[in-house]
Order: sequence, then structure tokens, then C-alpha cells
Amino acid sequence: MYVEVVINRSAKRLNKTFDYRIPKQLESLVTIGSTVLVPFGKGSKLEEGYITKIKDDTSYKVKDIVEIKYNLTESQIKLSQWMAKKYFCNTSDCIKQMLQPGTKNHNKAKNIQEKIINVVYLKQDFEKIQFDIDTGKIKSDKQKRILQFLNSTEGATIPEIELFTDGTRAIVKTLEKNNYVEIMEKKIERNPLADKNIESTENLQLTDEQQCAFNKVQAKINSNTFEEFLLYGVTGSGKTEVYLQLIGEALKMERTAIVLVPEISLTPQMIDRFIARFNKEEIAILHSKLSIGERYDEWNKIKEGKAKIIIGARSAIFAPTQNIGIIIIDEEHDSSYKSEAIPKYDAKEIAKKIAEENRCPLVLGSATPDMNTYYKAKQGIITLLELTRRANNSNLPSVNIVDLKMELANGNKSMLSVELHEAIENNLKEGRQTILFLNRRGFSTFVMCRECGYTVKCKNCNISMTYHITGNKLKCHYCGYEQKVVNTCPECKSTKIRYFGTGTQKLEQEIESIFPKATTIRMDIDTVTKKNSHEEILNKFKNENIDILIGTQMVVKGHHFPNVTLVGVIAADSSLNIDDYRANERTFQILTQVAGRAGREKLPGQVIIQTYNPDNFSIVSAKEQNYEKFYNTEIALRKQLKYPPFCDIILMEFNGLIEKDIISLSEKVYTYLKIKLKDKKFYILKPMPSPIDKIQNRYRWRIIIKGNMTKEVNEIFNECLRKIYELNYKDTRVTIDVNPNNMS
Ligand code: ADP
Ligand code: ZN
Ligand code: ZN
Repeated sequence: MYVEVVINRSAKRLNKTFDYRIPKQLESLVTIGSTVLVPFGKGSKLEEGYITKIKDDTSYKVKDIVEIKYNLTESQIKLSQWMAKKYFCNTSDCIKQMLQPGTKNHNKAKNIQEKIINVVYLKQDFEKIQFDIDTGKIKSDKQKRILQFLNSTEGATIPEIELFTDGTRAIVKTLEKNNYVEIMEKKIERNPLADKNIESTENLQLTDEQQCAFNKVQAKINSNTFEEFLLYGVTGSGKTEVYLQLIGEALKMERTAIVLVPEISLTPQMIDRFIARFNKEEIAILHSKLSIGERYDEWNKIKEGKAKIIIGARSAIFAPTQNIGIIIIDEEHDSSYKSEAIPKYDAKEIAKKIAEENRCPLVLGSATPDMNTYYKAKQGIITLLELTRRANNSNLPSVNIVDLKMELANGNKSMLSVELHEAIENNLKEGRQTILFLNRRGFSTFVMCRECGYTVKCKNCNISMTYHITGNKLKCHYCGYEQKVVNTCPECKSTKIRYFGTGTQKLEQEIESIFPKATTIRMDIDTVTKKNSHEEILNKFKNENIDILIGTQMVVKGHHFPNVTLVGVIAADSSLNIDDYRANERTFQILTQVAGRAGREKLPGQVIIQTYNPDNFSIVSAKEQNYEKFYNTEIALRKQLKYPPFCDIILMEFNGLIEKDIISLSEKVYTYLKIKLKDKKFYILKPMPSPIDKIQNRYRWRIIIKGNMTKEVNEIFNECLRKIYELNYKDTRVTIDVNPNNMS
């Protein structure tokens, strides 16, 4: 028996299969998807690899497989191969996504990570034991008491035996020797939900709109068919309640459910709603804040079929669950569903593939759907389900726009407009909470000389350094390089150095000086680093009734603060000015979501948006909470300028240590693609340096291509990559990202 193996290494030249022989004694153990150790290359060094095919014959002279480590399923291998083509990477990179966390050294991991305890069980029927007691074969009272105790419980640990009887470890060992009891190892699962005690909830009576949405998806669960749905409903319209009841439906059909949420909204508040409705033993949680041991255990729970509901961030889509009855992606517009690292996959695309395979519905939920998703819904490719009203009848907040140009003209140089200032003051008087939202991080974005325009840039990355008040230093956000602040310009020796832009720290200082009695708490990338810190900050804000929360994007997602009645957006423009065709969409999404934080319960909410562009349509439609209006304007613009969904944007990036190598390579590729894509209505830009043209001493060039990524075109790009690797450029990497999140 022979197999084809992919080697678990990222080197592009290893993105093919190698043949090996299976020794007779291992034949019965291998399956497609097995991880194996094989001798590889000149020195026959042992390498890890994955079996992708089993066959009777080979035309090569081959070596034997040395060891089998563990198994993936055949469908996981198929998915990896599909991904490798689609996302232009190695199969092994994709397989890695599906491996159990901590399985690098499986056996060792198991021992370290699993907590094993010894449990004592009766080894014979108690009737027989009783006979031995009655006939005097067992004389010791202590022995009798242990046996009787064990008869009353389903196994006990030695400490428990010592506690409940006056037996000792030595007596238990004697009983073991005499064959009355046996001691077995038992695995204790470290359950991140273990100490949760949540009052359970019943299904709510659905509103007509909820019921209508529920029925359509339920029909697909029951008939075991794939269909993609968009559940579009304003914040608080009861989407989560619909998810919960649909999951209940899948469980009833003896099937499982996967729920994806953005990493940052995997808060205890959100998880509690699932625990309250379902048996917590049946829920597995997967996210990056779990310890490796916890992730290992959760993975096991899923593999063994104990966990039926899997809730997690992007990568939870690879959870080893079978017989899926529904996949739900909440906040589907969130950019975190697209991976920025290799493999650069889109969890929504993977979810669709898996849902098709499992013949189950896929539900995408959002209050501000992704333009592409809504476009598909309009085209009838995705079934649209709408919730137009808030479920608990609370009103949407009132939103005001403040023109910062006018504030400046009136001589107000503060970060707070008069209106926002007064609103905060009022809120403090009323004892209500406020959230102030700033779309930036750090104290200042960059440092500039006002005489000659010199800005301090990172010497590795050629990108502006950011001033951090903590430690009084400049920091590069790309590579982490730090340097001391400059007080005189290195170019012109002027001392007129200024810190441009404003950040959360500066806002916090300003708030503290304006409202010295108010309590404040800040949440941004600098304060959120430790495990749980994100939650700690939010819990503190909520439980200690802190007056003002100051934060970046992080405050936007999914939280529920009953006492927050005012939300202030310090400068809506920061996301409008990002160098990306989605700037309007991002701005609309962020503002709508921020506004959704105010007045979620009985108290009416108020939102104040400060901006230099009060007439911009994304800001105006966010004020009106009018997605439809935003969509109609934006889609017309996209059509005119030919942006997605009317085409795909393909970013091909070249990076390497030798600049002239990547320039010559990108030029060759440009010429090649010009010819290959000639009749395909493609628009190929000439190679140029990336906006950040050097990161960690690697030069970066790129080609941007617009057109429709079909199967055929995908093959052209894969072929192009193969040709590039045949050229054998040293230390040069080429990546392709279709519709990347970030163009810088
Ligand atoms: P979304 O997920 O769309 O933001 P939620 O599911 O969180 O909305 O619902 C918002 C609030 O409305 C929650 O407090 C929820 O318990 C309540 N709710 C949802 N559906 C109903 C219903 N059918 N009847 C009464 N209250 C509901
Ligand atoms: Zn200068
Ligand atoms: Zn840097």
C-alpha cells in the first residue's frame, strides 16, 4: 500500500505530494488525513506530513512511513486542498488550522494538559461482595465500610474515601490486590464554563417578524438542505433570540451548531445567553484567550461528540464537529472573519462550503450587512430575512451631528463641542453613564516638524512612529521598534516639533481636567493586553457604575450597558480618511454600532457625532439609522468606480531583502499576467512600491488587479505562482490576497 503525503512546511516548493510506502503493520491504521512522520530529503531527516491519498501503486522508488501520529477526517483534507487553491497557499498551512490545539507534541501535550485523577470502582457485583462479608471472607470493618460506601456511589477518589469512611489508601490498595475494587484513571476536563451558574431561560414568544424568519430557516434544518440566509435586523431586534431557537431546533434533530462571533464580542454576557438556554456541558467555546489546555479540552469535547454547540471566533469554523445542523455567523460584516495571515481565508466562504457539505442552512446576521452580502441578497442569491423593530420595544436613540468646523470658528479648541460638553455634564448630574468613542489609538498619531514638515518614521518600516505618553516614547505599530521622543528636528534643527492627531490618552486627560469629579476608564489597545482585561474593563465600567468609558473600536461591539444613555463620537472623520475603498462602509458601520450602544433598555438614548464632514452620506445615514439609504448611495458609487461587489480586487505582494530582485520579479509577473488575462476584462496596475514599502527590512512591492475571480482565473494565478517558484528567487515571498481587508 502506498500513500501521497504533503510535508508540513510552508516552503512553496513543498506544495506538492510525495509518495511513501506503508509498512504492513501500519496498513490498518492509516486513513486519509493521518499525520505521519516520514524520512525526507537528502539526509532522510524525519518530517511531519499528512496523508492526502491512498493507492496501490507508485512509479517512484519510495521510502517507508516511520510513524502515524493522529488523524484528521477525509473531508478535512479535502477542505484543505480546496482552500490551498482558493487562497493561494500550501495545503499544510490549511491542515494546521484543523489540528487540535497543542497537538504539536501530542503525547506530551496530553499528559501536561489533561488533569488525570484516580477513581476507585467496585470490581464485582455487590451481591458477591456481600456473600464474602457474610461468610467471613472479608473481616476488616474498615474494608467493609469502604465497599459499602463504593456501592452507594458511582466511583470515588481516594481522598473522598478517606473523607467519608475511615479507610486509607493502604486499605484501598489491599482491596485492589484482592480483586474487590479497581482503580482507574479518569480525565478531568478543564471547563472554562465550570464555575458558571446562570439562571436558565425559556424560549421567548417570538414576534411576527422573528417567527417568519425562524420558520424559513427551520424548514431547511428539518429538510436537511443548504440555503444561505441574511438575517438583517437593527440592533436589539432580537436576532440572538432567533439564533437560540434555531439552535434548539438543530439539537432536536440530533445535529450540532456552529456559531461564529467576532473575537471581541465573545464576552461572558454573550456566552451567558447560550448557557442560560442550553445545557452547558453541550457548549464548547473556542477563542484565543483560552489557555492551550482549555482549548485542547474544548476540542476533545467536540471531537467526542459531547459538545453540540460550538461558539467561537473565526477559526472555530474548523472545529471537528460532525453532522452540523446550522451555521450562524453573527455580525457578519465584521472584518475579523477574513484572515490577514496565511492562509488568508474568509470564514464566511468556508462556512458556506461546510454548510453545503452538511446540507444545512447558513445564517449571516447583521444590523449593517456587508455591502457584498446585501447585494447578493438583493440579487436573490442569499435569502433575505428582515427584523425591522426592536424586540423589547425600546426606541432607537436620537442622533445629533455637530459640525466641528463651526466649533473651531467659534473659538472652541477643545476636543468636546459645546453640545457634547453639556450633554456629558447633564448625564453626570443624572447619574447615568457615557461612552466616548475615538477611532484611534495612542496619544498622538504622528510627530511632525512644523518648520520643515519632517515626520519621525520607523527606520525598519518607513511608517510614522506613534507617540506614547506612557514611558514618553515613540513606537512603531508595525514592528514594535521604540525610540526616545525628539525635541529638535533632526533635519532643520527647529524646536517647533508638534504631536499631531489626538488619542484616547489625551481625551482622558482632557475629560479629567474638565470633569474632575467624574470617574473614567479607558479601553484601547494599550490598556487591553492581559488575559480577560477587555472583559475586566467592561465589567468594571458596568458594575462600579463608572461615569465615562473612553475607548476605540473595541467599545463598539455587542455589549449591553443598561445605564448608558449618552454616546459621543469625538471625530467621525478618522475612519472616513483611511486609504481604502470601504472607508464609507466602515464609517457607517462603526457609527451605527456605536449609536446602538445607547438606550438599550427603558432609558432613552442620545448620540452625538462630531465631524468635519457633516454632510457626508455615510454620517447622515448613520444618524438616521438608515441602512437602505446608505446602501443605495454606496452601491451606485461602487458600480461607477468598479469596486466590489462589481469586481474583485486582487492584491499581489512581493517582498524580499533585495529590492532589485523584487522589482524585476514583479515586472516579469506583470508582463505574464497581461498576456494571460488578456481577454478576461481585467485591469492590471503597473507594479509599484506598497504604501508601507519596507517592513522589518524587507522591501515590499505590489501589483493591484481588478476583475472577476473565477475558477479559471484562479488557476491562472496558481500557475503563475508555480512559475515564480521555478525561478528560484532567494528570500523572496509572493502572496495573493483577494479582496483584502487592508490595502496598506
Ligand atoms: P439582537 O441580537 O438583534 O441585538 P437580542 O436578541 O439581543 O437582539 O434582543 C434584544 C433584547 O430584546 C434582549 O433583551 C432580548 O431578550 C429581547 N427580546 C428578543 N426577542 C424577544 C421577544 N420575542 N420578546 C420579548 N423580548 C425579546
Ligand atoms: Zn524640521
Ligand atoms: Zn517598524
